[in-house]
Amino acid sequence: MTTLSDVLTTSPATLANADQPIDVIVIGSGTAGVTSAIELAQQGHAVVILEAGPFVLPSHVGSTPFRSRADLVPQIQDLVRHRSIWTNPDADDPTPQSPRNNDAWSAVGGRTLFWGGCTPRFTQWDFDDWPISYEAFAPYYDRAENLMHVSGAGDLRPPFFRGDEQNQMLRRLQDAGIEAVHAPLGVDTQEAKNGYIPRGFDSSVARLTRSGLLTHQVQPGHIVLVSDTAVRQIEQDGTQVTGVIVQGRDDKRDTRLSARHYCLAGGAIQSTRLAVASGLQDLNPMVGRHIADHLFIQGLFKLKDPVGAPLYTFVPSTKDRRFNIQIQGPFDETWYSPYHATVWLDCNPDGLYLLAYCFGVGVATSGNALQLLDRAEDPHADLWQYKVHNDRTDKDRAILDEMAAFLPQVAAGMGAELVRSQVNHPGSALHEIGGLRMSAERDAGVTDSHGRFWSLPNLSVADSAAWPSQGGANSYLTITAWSLRHAEGVAARLSGAS
Ligand SMILES: Cc1cc2nc3c(=O)[nH]c(=O)nc-3n(C[C@H](O)[C@H](O)[C@H](O)COP(=O)(O)OP(=O)(O)OC[C@H]3O[C@@H](n4cnc5c(N)ncnc54)[C@H](O)[C@@H]3O)c2cc1C
Repeated sequence: MTTLSDVLTTSPATLANADQPIDVIVIGSGTAGVTSAIELAQQGHAVVILEAGPFVLPSHVGSTPFRSRADLVPQIQDLVRHRSIWTNPDADDPTPQSPRNNDAWSAVGGRTLFWGGCTPRFTQWDFDDWPISYEAFAPYYDRAENLMHVSGAGDLRPPFFRGDEQNQMLRRLQDAGIEAVHAPLGVDTQEAKNGYIPRGFDSSVARLTRSGLLTHQVQPGHIVLVSDTAVRQIEQDGTQVTGVIVQGRDDKRDTRLSARHYCLAGGAIQSTRLAVASGLQDLNPMVGRHIADHLFIQGLFKLKDPVGAPLYTFVPSTKDRRFNIQIQGPFDETWYSPYHATVWLDCNPDGLYLLAYCFGVGVATSGNALQLLDRAEDPHADLWQYKVHNDRTDKDRAILDEMAAFLPQVAAGMGAELVRSQVNHPGSALHEIGGLRMSAERDAGVTDSHGRFWSLPNLSVADSAAWPSQGGANSYLTITAWSLRHAEGVAARLSGAS
């Protein structure tokens, strides 16, 4: 053994020769994949996680000494960041070549290594198009918040920023008629005490390592993690999945692996891409369609006077206002660092600038679809050979207009003015959904209300590819809660209960 990766991961060839059968293959090691894998292993199943990316960090970058190193974090991201294509309907001069305009991450832990930490819940009306109600989903939120150590709601884990200035700012917004709360964050604020040390940012790789379930041999109640290994193809016979074709980064040949059940957890776009690349559109023409991302505007507020303390406030979406706003700062900087999602940890209390992120619900039409480009020889490069078509509907444009009009009101409520704003292109919010949408009725969607394919019952979706619509909140918490529900459906199938 020469690296940390050797301690934690196993090669595909070892698995192909294993004596013990695999119960569940999970494709992807972000929050969707790891949450499902842990749930299923804890119920006694032999689980394997296949991850295309390498092992680069054992936890979220904000919980490591790299945290404030704007010089080093971009270099780490560049090891595992890939450029992908979403069409840009708002570009003045759309180029026929479709520039690679979006970022995607591929690593053990997926995007949980770099995400920004904001963890609001969807609200009741966000579930209107789902085959599950908010009330039915709420217990999964409770469990996800506990396992992610979300802070902000209770005494055990109080809000991360809780100075008088933050409270004062919330009151100011309230007085201006704008409901605002402490931003709920996936950062553990529980007191260090009696052997407990707070977990920092939630990250799936840290959760997996802490779980004590990792092993090198396939065995019931444990998880084998295979990194640097891309799943190229799902094989099926029209009634069930029969195996997956995988290739390790240094392997010359493919390996075929089989299991009793297969979970897609590559993130909405990659899970959809693999389904399309495997020809699953032939079983259901809705495969690859109904994709959306949050409508996304960034803004810069300039305060009249310094507030003298760090702030992170959250204006939730409402039934009539289908977008949220997050305001962080103060900073000296006047625009966003594209690499440093945790920049809000390093604000300057005397700075005058606040950064605002505004995320609105985008419409997932059937025309918003994933198209494969010419295949690449290298199976790892092949993962990025796709284009997502995402046109904007009239409703999208109306919500974007409302978002743009609301930002200066929020700025004024905070004693600031909006000095700059920017409407970002689809895909840039990194909150993508759809492609394998769920439905209550077999003919109305690709997957059922636990994410199991209607036409292939031993294949299921642990991530937001299954969502029929987007909520007015960032997606990480809801993906984690959804993957708990998804795992329940897989376990029921494996036990023969449904
Ligand atoms: C900088 C940044 C800031 C963010 N901030 C926030 C925030 O504040 N709040 C929030 O809610 N969300 C935030 N997000 C979004 C959030 O991180 C994602 O929605 C969420 O982590 C997605 O989880 P996932 O498990 O579905 O997919 P991912 O994290 O993308 O993991 C999927 C993994 O599957 C692997 N994979 C894919 N296809 C294959 C294949 N064929 N074979 C093998 N492996 C495969 C990929 O390599 C990847 O590692 C942010 C994201 C980024 C990048």
